[in-house]
Amino acid sequence: MNVFEQLGIPTIINAKGTSTRVSGGILPAEVAEAMRQATQACVDMPTLQGRASEIIAEVTGAEAGIVTAGAAAGLMLGTAACIAGLDPSLMNRLPDTTGLKDEVVVVRSQRNLYDHAVRQAGARLVEVGLADRYAGAGLRDAEAWEVADAITERTACVLHVANPQSEPSLAEMVAVAHARGVPVIVDAAGQLPPAGNLRRFIAEGADLVAFSGGKAILGPQASGILCGRRDLVQSAALQMLDQDILFRQWNPPPALFDKRRLKGLPQHGIGRPCKVGKEQVVGLLVALRRFVAEDPAARHAAWLARLAEVQDALRSANQVQLTLVDAGGDTVPVLDARLDPGAGHDVLDLVIALQNSMPSVHVDPTALRAGIIRFNPMALQPGEGRVAGARLAALLGRSG
Ligand SMILES: *Cc1c(COP(=O)(O)O)cnc(C)c1O
Repeated sequence: MNVFEQLGIPTIINAKGTSTRVSGGILPAEVAEAMRQATQACVDMPTLQGRASEIIAEVTGAEAGIVTAGAAAGLMLGTAACIAGLDPSLMNRLPDTTGLKDEVVVVRSQRNLYDHAVRQAGARLVEVGLADRYAGAGLRDAEAWEVADAITERTACVLHVANPQSEPSLAEMVAVAHARGVPVIVDAAGQLPPAGNLRRFIAEGADLVAFSGGKAILGPQASGILCGRRDLVQSAALQMLDQDILFRQWNPPPALFDKRRLKGLPQHGIGRPCKVGKEQVVGLLVALRRFVAEDPAARHAAWLARLAEVQDALRSANQVQLTLVDAGGDTVPVLDARLDPGAGHDVLDLVIALQNSMPSVHVDPTALRAGIIRFNPMALQPGEGRVAGARLAALLGRSG
């Protein structure tokens, strides 16, 4: 009996992707085994994060990096780092930002509720631009001069939510922010693959970048990476780690910490509620190395094979057109099942019926407005695509 059976928890078929709501993806065996081994010994946590910093720096090209409890935790810690710098008394004060630089400039069209994490550090968001292109009333999003004008002496940092559609570009955001001495934090949580993005945002000048560890990297579900400028990453680490130790006793790894720049240590900083365990750090590092070593063509081929199962099972289904959406290269292909508008099926009803099946099948609902049920292969295990496709085919009825 597996552990979920023992607990009486039904497992699901996850054709939604590695989302948090559906518990992420399937850990590669070597990652799970590394985590198991990590549970069987104790280590000094700053030393472990110092080694993580070296490995993350190697992979991303950043000066430093830490393993966080997820990308959202990275955004919170990164914001706290931009506000408090290396001053332990300011670290101890957060989220009270009275009299401190507490404004974070963000393009209005990039607002999303993950930016709750930024506000959690005590910052206030200052929205910029009016993206009338979304109302069909115009053609613009925010422009770089508007970002520049929003930066004041109270600005802690600029937040950029990375997406191929984001405007202004990261390079433009970096140029205006750096001209005023302000750092840029990038939310790149879901921007992998392509694996090249691990280096790209840093290369474009970002001061801090947050990635999810539990999405395409296939690390532990509650893990992530915060990488970037060493002083900022050091501040983030100090605000997350347990530092309940006398300063003279504290012997941190020089890869991440510069003890001479500190007048003392904060104890339990604002990041204490999003601490990471040794299992998460080890699991993320093993998964990260595996992700960058994996042949993108092999990764892509495996995903196509999962989708082919869904496609085969749906081939004879009624009233549905199948489209493989595949940009090739190091991207995630998906399979779109578009319901014939005249078929009389409510597409959300079908999604709910899939969810209520035994086993429960979860699909990607992002294109429902277009009448599309989308299958994402990232968390499908061999054989599951056939079950998911057959379930939808049964709901639709067979043709002929
Ligand atoms: C998934 C996601 C997050 C949250 O990442 P976690 O690793 O789950 O904390 C934040 N921002 C965006 C844009 C995301 O897609």
